[in-house]
Amino acid sequence: MSEKIRVALAAGDGIGTEIMDACLEVFRAAGVMDTVEFVPVEMGQRVFAAGDSRGMTDEAIDAIEQTGLLYKGPMGTPIGGGGKSINVTLRKTFGAFANLRHFQSLPGVDTVFSRAGVPVDIYVVRENIEDTYGGIEHRLTADVVECKRLITAPGCDQVHRFAFKTAQSLGITKVHCGHKANIMKMTDGMFLERFHAAAKDHPLIETADVIIDALCMNLVLRPQEYRMVVLPNLQGDIVSDLAAGLVGGLGFAPSANIGDEISIFEAVHGTAPDIAGKGIANPTSLLLSGIMMVRHIGLYRRAALIENALLATLEDGVHTGDVRGESDPVGTGDFAKAIIARLGKTPSGLEARPIPETATPTYRPPTRPTVNRLMRTFETSVSHVAGCDIYIDTTIPVLDLARRLQAIAENSPFKLTMISNRGTQVWPSGSPYTEIVDYFRVRFELRDMAFLGAIGQMPAIHLLTKVTEKFVVTDFQPLKMFDGKPGFSLAQGQ
Ligand code: NAD
Repeated sequence: MSEKIRVALAAGDGIGTEIMDACLEVFRAAGVMDTVEFVPVEMGQRVFAAGDSRGMTDEAIDAIEQTGLLYKGPMGTPIGGGGKSINVTLRKTFGAFANLRHFQSLPGVDTVFSRAGVPVDIYVVRENIEDTYGGIEHRLTADVVECKRLITAPGCDQVHRFAFKTAQSLGITKVHCGHKANIMKMTDGMFLERFHAAAKDHPLIETADVIIDALCMNLVLRPQEYRMVVLPNLQGDIVSDLAAGLVGGLGFAPSANIGDEISIFEAVHGTAPDIAGKGIANPTSLLLSGIMMVRHIGLYRRAALIENALLATLEDGVHTGDVRGESDPVGTGDFAKAIIARLGKTPSGLEARPIPETATPTYRPPTRPTVNRLMRTFETSVSHVAGCDIYIDTTIPVLDLARRLQAIAENSPFKLTMISNRGTQVWPSGSPYTEIVDYFRVRFELRDMAFLGAIGQMPAIHLLTKVTEKFVVTDFQPLKMFDGKPGFSLAQGQ
């Protein structure tokens, strides 16, 4: 046969080695190793302890780049010091833009829904790079800090296209977009707009959007109404754990981080230091993530074989001790043996995963990009400066502030149109009940829209310089019209 598909393998810390050994044993018995060669790499606490703040060796990075696939156990993040979460570093370094998690009712796993006979089978697709997880944070004044939330059109397009493609391959006929576009009209608004744009390429898949708070309630009340939900990063993070709760906890929730070149398959629970070395940890989450990987490389038949054996094992009441209500638990190794003994069997009480005809891998290792790829969505968009927001660190009374700023802007193409504090307008009108802090946004807009497109950005910079002579400025944001539409939101009350 042709060369094997190589997969970088990092067992992880704590219970990592125990659960990874169990998964590899199952893969070996199911014949996965006929096609796949696992390449062990060094990542995690030992690498942090050796002084590498990335938590992974150069050899590990090389292996991941060459294979394009990483299968990993849980890894501890050092508390304090320079070490960052390996999981976040991996996703960002390797451009794994979509996080795919599958939450399904598993036989024998006691949950509120299993008792009520309500099946849960939900995929959550979470954007993995942007949003507040960009980690762009600043202290602006004595009392104010900020986190910049970036949402990009190409970033949205990537995750939405992935969601629809995955839905199609899984036979899912309806995809929901979760968002808060009623409040964050520009950022979540763009996420939602790009969702509908991506949907046009998949006319057979039904779409719906749902506001995030309603989604959380609906998931708890009627989880059976959802098959796939795609969400921005932070909302997706929260909804993923909510969905894990529906099926019995994080121990039953596999996770894949998918990029154009590199994809990472991991258990989402931690290193469980309290039970490490005892041989009692549950390998289900890591095994299910491994099954996602086996499917990702095109070994659908082997993936279904293992998944059906796992479901049959759980259905037969063979459980590790963390499963709720389990009085006679088995250890990690015996659990793996029980799965191996059931390879070829299917669960009786629920629908077995269909075993497709093809067993030929479709995966090809990636080529390492030589430059950063520029992603564009709206290449022909035309923008013109229409004003600017200047952010000022001050505690002077609002009317004084307005008078002084109006004087500064007197001979410029801009006039003061609004002052807000914590997003709420306090001038020219406002409410005395609005409590304010030492951080004002002052908005200047063109006196005459005839200047639009004629003045460039320098007059706004000159105005900024003049304001800076009199006030402590913490930030500056040009206001632009894009293709004739405002590229800025109004303040609350404006
Ligand atoms: P944890 O998930 O390790 O443990 C929480 C509880 O769940 C513990 O009681 C543990 O025994 C239990 N548990 C977790 N996985 C289990 C399994 N497979 N089988 C049986 N029981 C299991 O969370 P934590 O204690 O907050 O974190 C411990 C360490 O793990 C920290 O260093 C943290 O940074 C790291 N962590 C890593 C990942 C990851 O690599 N993906 C995720 C979360 C936490």
